Amino acid sequence: MSQKEWYQMTADEVLQSQRVHPSEGLSSAEADNRQTEAGRNELSEGKSVSPVTLFLNQFKDFMVLVLMGATLVSGLLGEYLDAITIVAIIIMNGILGFIQEFRAERSLRALKELSAPGAKVMRGGELQTIPARDLVPGDIILLESGDRVPADIRLIEANSFYVEESALTGESVPVGKTVDPLSSDTVTIGDQRNLAFMGTMVTRGTGKGAVVRIGMETEMGKIADLIQNTQTLETPLQHRLEQLGKILIIVALCLTVMVVVAGIVHGQPPYAMFLAGVSLAVAAIPEGLPAIVTIALALGVQRMIKRKAIVRKLPSVETLGCASVICSDKTGTLTQNKMTVTHLWVGGSLLEVSGDGYTPEGEISAGGTRVNPAKNSMLRQFLQVSALCSNAVLYKEEAEPVKKKRAKDEPPETVWNVKGDPTEGALVVLAAKAGVTHEVLNPQFDRLAEFPFDSERKRMSVIVSSGGRKLVMTKGAPDVLMQHCTYILWDDKVIPFTSTLKAKVMAANEGMARSALRVLGTAYRELKPTESCEDHEDAERGLVFVGLAGMIDPPRREVREAMAKCRKAGIKTVMITGDHLTTAEAIAKQLGMLPAGGMCISGHQLAAMDDEALESKVDDIYVYARVSPEHKLRIVKALQAKGHVVAMTGDGVNDAPAIKAADIGIAMGISGTDVTKEASSLVLSDDNFATIVAAIEEGRGIYENIRKFIRYLLASNVGEILTMFLAMMAGLPLPLIPIQILWVNLVTDGLPAMALGVDQAEKDLMQHKPRSARENIFARRLGWKIISRGFLIGVCTLGAFWLVLRVNPGDAQHLVKAQSVAFATLVMAQLIHVFDCRSSRSIFHRNPLQNKYLVLAVLSSLVLMLGVMYTPQLQPIFKTVPLGFKDWIIVLVAAGIPTFLMGLGSVMQNPSKKKTAKYSSKPSFR
Ligand code: ATP
Repeated sequence: MSQKEWYQMTADEVLQSQRVHPSEGLSSAEADNRQTEAGRNELSEGKSVSPVTLFLNQFKDFMVLVLMGATLVSGLLGEYLDAITIVAIIIMNGILGFIQEFRAERSLRALKELSAPGAKVMRGGELQTIPARDLVPGDIILLESGDRVPADIRLIEANSFYVEESALTGESVPVGKTVDPLSSDTVTIGDQRNLAFMGTMVTRGTGKGAVVRIGMETEMGKIADLIQNTQTLETPLQHRLEQLGKILIIVALCLTVMVVVAGIVHGQPPYAMFLAGVSLAVAAIPEGLPAIVTIALALGVQRMIKRKAIVRKLPSVETLGCASVICSDKTGTLTQNKMTVTHLWVGGSLLEVSGDGYTPEGEISAGGTRVNPAKNSMLRQFLQVSALCSNAVLYKEEAEPVKKKRAKDEPPETVWNVKGDPTEGALVVLAAKAGVTHEVLNPQFDRLAEFPFDSERKRMSVIVSSGGRKLVMTKGAPDVLMQHCTYILWDDKVIPFTSTLKAKVMAANEGMARSALRVLGTAYRELKPTESCEDHEDAERGLVFVGLAGMIDPPRREVREAMAKCRKAGIKTVMITGDHLTTAEAIAKQLGMLPAGGMCISGHQLAAMDDEALESKVDDIYVYARVSPEHKLRIVKALQAKGHVVAMTGDGVNDAPAIKAADIGIAMGISGTDVTKEASSLVLSDDNFATIVAAIEEGRGIYENIRKFIRYLLASNVGEILTMFLAMMAGLPLPLIPIQILWVNLVTDGLPAMALGVDQAEKDLMQHKPRSARENIFARRLGWKIISRGFLIGVCTLGAFWLVLRVNPGDAQHLVKAQSVAFATLVMAQLIHVFDCRSSRSIFHRNPLQNKYLVLAVLSSLVLMLGVMYTPQLQPIFKTVPLGFKDWIIVLVAAGIPTFLMGLGSVMQNPSKKKTAKYSSKPSFR
């Protein structure tokens, strides 16, 4: 048997050779054994950089190498202490860089883990969902539409099972699969119809099979090298910053050369100037920038996870901050997806249904009088169709969380719940309230076939047999269902469905929908004994319309608030739903997402518009109802054509193209399929609209934090270069010696910048309109702030240096004191400025103690600065002297001027001026 290929074996032979029972699966002990033997079901990763290499990479930088060379020379010339200190500072800088990059790398890895797919597997007779990497050969797994095949599977069951294999074969048309063995010897992958291959997507139907190959053994594993690393982890911003970094290196080098030349022209010794120049270049080049950006992104992503938003593609973090429209599904995202039938309409009468949630307790009544289903045949028929044409299962489970401790003999508290689609759950509960349960129906009815629900068809049918009769039972969206009905149950009789009666049904439907109820209709037909009904077209015609059920699906509590936040943030919210227009409109109003004059249109109206007409109206439309998944793509494109950055949600397989086309594709973590999740850049682990808004808020915050530390780092560097440059131009001695320059860089660049990366967002973060996706990182006066603050830091440092120096310019000891003052001023000016960077306005607009990481970082920088000034052993190395009271006054005043002067200016300019959101000019909301 081992000679046979998997596709040549029968299903039984496969199960035998894998030693597994098809309905039991493997026991967990056996699965563990097999995993020890076969390893994990993973494709091997490309080579990752080892920590040692990462550490050594820190010293590859050209300027660092030059500095090392220069240090070596000064060491050989006898300046041992200088040389050792410079090397020590370079190593400390290297360690800091290593820690930053290592953290960044680790966070990215953790993100990858999070988006790992799962698999539905039978283990020990129970259906479980486990991470796909834990699958072993012999596992029995279940696959359904929307799943990604997690390993190579030999199918043992296939129901209308279609798989899209383009990842392997390039063929994008889905392939129908069977379970029959193939006789031929050499069959190409595309023809192995009884195998489903790892990485391919199930587009239709259901299947069951045994895992036959895992990890690198799979067909996908064989080509793994080709497909690895296709996903770029670098965001556009990171890319642009890398380019900027290159420009900054050139600018820093040019300025350094100018400093060196100016120094030499004014009589400084060339070698001292060379060393000062190289140190300045090392300090001025913001080598930590890319790593800090990655950390800010990665830590932001961790914060998003805590808020239930899982980022699958790092670039989307940036895009999130630019989102100007959110297109959201209704059911489950804006609403709770906890349905309860509250009204029925049968035979022209409106009935009320009492009871809460999924508990099958309640009464059906008409105008306050109880209706007995046993005596109302039309109602009974309605309840039978509802229960039989549903796959949801009602069950009791232990209440959670268990609040109080139970006594030993006290039975656990139980609650009713539903497995499966909540819409069907509501119908099953309704029927159970009237005693029409599966226990009662199952002995009488056999299900022969099912034509499943999908959001394209908006209906579902089953064929059942009972006592020699065969019946089609259908339920679905009333407007769609009515098109398939020619009769109606009226006065206990089947009569033709006249246009007058149709109008009555429509009016009842509208009435319920206006009260924000989701409405479903039911119908049936008795089949002739000879009718076989191979497809749904045959079955779903000439039906007898029975009635309507209206169910409430309460809006999620948090959504109203999230909507209000969006309005303030200039983000438009749009509902795109398969539900009825009136229901959708009523819910949109309840949620406050429909402004006066805002339009609601149906899928039909949308289909009648060409792209141009849609584009001209798209800004005014807030609700799209009864749409099919393909409409979503048109809506995304129209919005994008109008310059919007679009976030779009989806759950089904057919939503994937729209999700892919959207700037931020959002998949549902609970109800979403693998296919949509893989097409998405963001997954909501709670399916909740409010989570999208939270993610946008984080996205905006992350971007602002990146701007904050770019501002801080660059202004500091401008200050450092200018201090040296202006001194040389003025013919003054060096205000800072090389070791001091390197120490300033070490003390001020690392920790405070990182702490800015995790700074809290400003209060008005969600009160600005979204930034443009093309916005330059230096926009909104950031460039001006960098130059002006940097200029003032440079001038004030030099001023402090000069004030002390001028008392006794010729004295070498006095120069050391002036240099110590310049050193302290430069460090202090940066450490004060870092608090200014937290606010887009000024230091006076935020509590400086709010970011405790920043406070700690600044304190540790202060200790490092004071350490080299006040430790007697370090003073000769760093050429520092302790400062007196008067000197400290000079230092503090000079260091405070750049931040406080600009701050006062900003306060005086216009203290209460706020940017207003574009949205606030829109009409008021209903
Ligand atoms: P959204 O698109 O906002 O998630 P939705 O759930 O209303 O909302 P669909 O799932 O596409 O969208 O449903 C469209 C319509 O099909 C519903 O309004 C309902 O009338 C009908 N419908 C929904 N679920 C079922 C089902 N299980 N069987 C039959 N008909 C259904």
